[in-house]
This record gives sequence, C-alpha cells and structure tokens, in this order.
Amino acid sequence: MRRIQHFIDGELRAGTSGRSSDVYNPATGEVQAQVDLASVAEVDQAVVSASAAAVEWAESSLTQRTQIMFRFRELLAGRVDELARIISSEHGKVISDAAGEVARGLENVEFACGIAHHLKGEINEQVSAGIEVYSLRQPLGVVAGITPFNFPAMVPSWMFATAIACGNAFICKPSERDPSASMLIAEWFIEAGLPPGVFSVVNGDKVAVDALIDHEDVAAISFVGSTPIASYVYNRGTAMGKRVQALGGAKNHMLVLPDADIDMAADAAVSAAYGSAGERCMAISALIAVGSVADELVEAISTRIPDIKVGAGDEPDAEMGPLITGEHCARVAGYVERAQEAGAVAVVDGSQADVPKNGFFYGPTLLDGVTPEMECYSDEIFGPVLVVVRVETFREAIDLINSNPFGNGTAIFTRDGGAARQFQHEVQVGMVGINVPIPVPVAYHSFGGWKSSLFGDTHMYGPEGVRFYTRAKAVTARWPDPSSSQIDLGFPRNN
Ligand code: NAD
Repeated sequence: MRRIQHFIDGELRAGTSGRSSDVYNPATGEVQAQVDLASVAEVDQAVVSASAAAVEWAESSLTQRTQIMFRFRELLAGRVDELARIISSEHGKVISDAAGEVARGLENVEFACGIAHHLKGEINEQVSAGIEVYSLRQPLGVVAGITPFNFPAMVPSWMFATAIACGNAFICKPSERDPSASMLIAEWFIEAGLPPGVFSVVNGDKVAVDALIDHEDVAAISFVGSTPIASYVYNRGTAMGKRVQALGGAKNHMLVLPDADIDMAADAAVSAAYGSAGERCMAISALIAVGSVADELVEAISTRIPDIKVGAGDEPDAEMGPLITGEHCARVAGYVERAQEAGAVAVVDGSQADVPKNGFFYGPTLLDGVTPEMECYSDEIFGPVLVVVRVETFREAIDLINSNPFGNGTAIFTRDGGAARQFQHEVQVGMVGINVPIPVPVAYHSFGGWKSSLFGDTHMYGPEGVRFYTRAKAVTARWPDPSSSQIDLGFPRNN
C-alpha cells in the first residue's frame, strides 16, 4: 500500500506516530494509500526546521524570492495535468475540474511573482525639518495553513504563495483525505530552488492542527474548512495570541428575477450546483425564485439534469464525479430523504439516478417547495443538491439571504441594472456575482465571506493576504548631510 509521509526540512519524512488514515479513490470506493498522521513531536520538528529557515528566508532579497517564485510558476504551469490527475484520484472531481482549480491556484502564484510591488511601503517627506516617516511591511516568521479536502491545490495556493513571497516559512496541514497535491507542491518548490524548511507539509488530523495552533513559534494560522472547525481554530488560535484568519462553510443563494434570461439562469444554476458534485464552498445550493419565474426555471433545470454525465474523474466525458467518502454520501442521502419527509418535492431524486455502483456516487438532486425552516435549507449539505425556495418579491428574497447565518457567496440573475445595483449594495455576503454564478475573486482581489463564513478580519490572498502575512513598522528618520560618496560607472543591478 502506498504510504504518504510528511515533507519536513526539504525532504520526505516517514511518520513515527504509529497513526495513519485511509486515502480512498472515491470513484471505486477502494483504499489507495495510507497517510501518516503527525504527532505533537513531529509537528515540533517541522516548526523547528521552519523557524531556522524563516530567519534566512526573511533576509533573502525580493529579487531572489521573485526568481524562485517565477521558476515554481513555470514548473506548476507545465505540470497542471499531473497535479489534476492526482487530485482527481483522491478527491474524485473530474480531471478538467481539477485542472481548473490548479489554474486558479496558479493565479495566486503569479500574484506572488509580483510581490515586490505589493510590499511597497509609504513615505512622507519632511514631516518636520529634515525628518521623514515611512512604513515597512516585514514577515511574521513561521505561519501555518490548515486546508479542506475540496480544493487540495487551490486553497493551499491561496496561502503559501503570498506567505512565502512575503518572506515567511509556511507549514501546510492539508486535509487527510487528499494530501498528495501538497506533497507534490513541496517537492516542486525544492526543484524551483526554495531553501529547505520554507515550505513544509505535516500530514495529520486534529492532533496536528492543535499542535500547530498551540506552538509558540507559529505566528499565524490560516484556516479553510467547515464553520464549526473554523470557529474552533479562530478561538483557540487567538487565545494563544496568534493572528488567525479562518474561512468557514457556506449556503450560497442564487436569486433569479422574473426578467432574467431563463436558459442562461438554468445553465448557470446547473453548473454551479452540480459542478464538483456540489463540494465547493462557492457552489450554489439554494435557488431563490422570485414570482412567476419559478415554474419555468424549475422545468428548465430539471430537463438539463439527465444530461449530466456522472462518472469517474478520469473518464474522458465525465462531468460530475463521486463524493469524497461513503460516509458523506450517506449523509447527503439522509438530507434528501428527510427533506421529502418534511414536505419538499424531489423534482429530481439523486438516489434514483443511474450512477456507478462501486464508488461514492450520488446523483444530482433538485428539491422544490423548500421553506426556510427545513433542514435542507438551513444546513450546508455539501453535495449535488439544489433546493428551490419560492418567494413573491425581490425584497423578500434579499431579506431571506440576509437572515441566513452564512455569507460566503451569492449571485443575482436579472437584466435589470437597478435591481442588480440594489442587490450588491444591500446583500450581506462577502462575494457577489451579477449574472455570474461562482464569483471567486481573481488573485489580485481578496477572497472571503461574511458572518459564519469567516472568522477574523482579513480575507484571504490578494492585497489582504499580503497584510495578513506581514507586520507593519513605521520609521521616523533624520539624516545629517552625507559627506561620503563614491563613483561606480557600472549599470546598477539588483542582487
Ligand atoms: P473540515 O472542517 O472537516 O476540515 C478542514 C481541516 O480541518 C482539515 O485539514 C481537517 O483535518 C481539520 N480538522 C477537521 N476536524 C478538526 C478538528 N476537530 N479539530 C481540528 N482540526 C480539524 O472541512 P472539510 O470537510 O475538509 O471541507 C469542507 C468544508 O470546507 C465545507 O464546509 C466548505 O464550505 C468549507 N470550505 C470553505 C471555503 C471558504 O473559502 N469559505 C473553501 C473551501 C471549503
């Protein structure tokens, strides 16, 4: 059986805790590898190595960091397919979808290639006679990232690219369900010339997470995962005096007004609800149909669902793969059953779909007649289940979205610019799409929800990522007239 180890101090390190976890191939239901689960002592080894590396890395020039990041970018861009295949085999998403996540992660690396621009400070000349005040941003030291199973390459990229480019050493604790993407990234960073210890991977579960949070030499924690764990990591981390950004779960609403183009809205709803089997934090899971649009929209979506090709991620024509585990598959099925008992109508019932029998497959499901009190509306199901809530007015729709405890993403479909403007202004959600169903911001903006979808003040990656991974320093300086200078006729170059 293949064994997935840790990556510490620039090399593979076999686990010594005696604990490991199964890594499945969700398309077959078979265990394909065992991942080592780190002990507190193994986390400490990673932090000790990272701490030593962080001191030197913080002294590296922006030119050196940028050159390594460019080399890494080239390696990653040339190996998208290799990474996508390993993601697909452990996560289950289809290869084209996995390649899409790598491409979005690559954008974060490209952002980090321009880090020199983003680290520029500010200066006021002559605040008093002969005195300047200027600001610097300096790295924190060792920072850790704890990531979920659903984007095993993209979510780590949200963190490590900026963290490392800012001069920190980064320790990744990927999901124990699909850890191999992070391991490959660690190897490719060494190939790109990153010094050992600047990027490490400790595989593990709660033991490793708690050890990272509690370690006094870890300065900051970035977390992405479910809301209960995000809240836990935020509270425990901040109680330890650390800087923490913890992104949680979601229930993303797509609001469709009667003037919307029905075909476009139906295509968008199907893509955003069932892509990656609904296991995306930005998946559309609740459709809010305003007034007369509901019947036509439900009909348009239900006629599209049978065309979705469900199959193993490496099948060339598959569009939707399996769920991550058998346990999760049963959980999704339970939600659909209880929804019908509560009065929802299964227009399309995924439990009846003709899907492969061996793996963790569940068919796309459309539930109509859902009301806000129902569990299938209030909970994040994280599967291929789209619930339809019918409301009479635009006002009712906005109020419904704003009363939801989550606030990650949302989208409005309309041809009315005024309504879209009102929606973007009033909706209490961190990322808004206007006729765009999955509004994940580009790498040079920042990603983050509101309310129970984010604990902490800073969103992830982009300009807010740079602020999160650096500390500001303000310098007040006075210099007497310099009397020394020298001549150098060579063209000035950066080293
Ligand atoms: P999860 O919360 O179960 O796990 C996330 C990480 O936390 C993993 O590395 C896991 O090992 C660790 N963990 C799990 N239980 C823990 C515990 N008790 N103590 C300490 N650490 C623990 O999430 P998941 O199932 O891997 O991912 C799916 C969830 O992530 C969904 O809720 C989804 O919405 C969310 N998510 C959110 C975003 C976002 O940007 N807001 C992005 C992707 C995923």
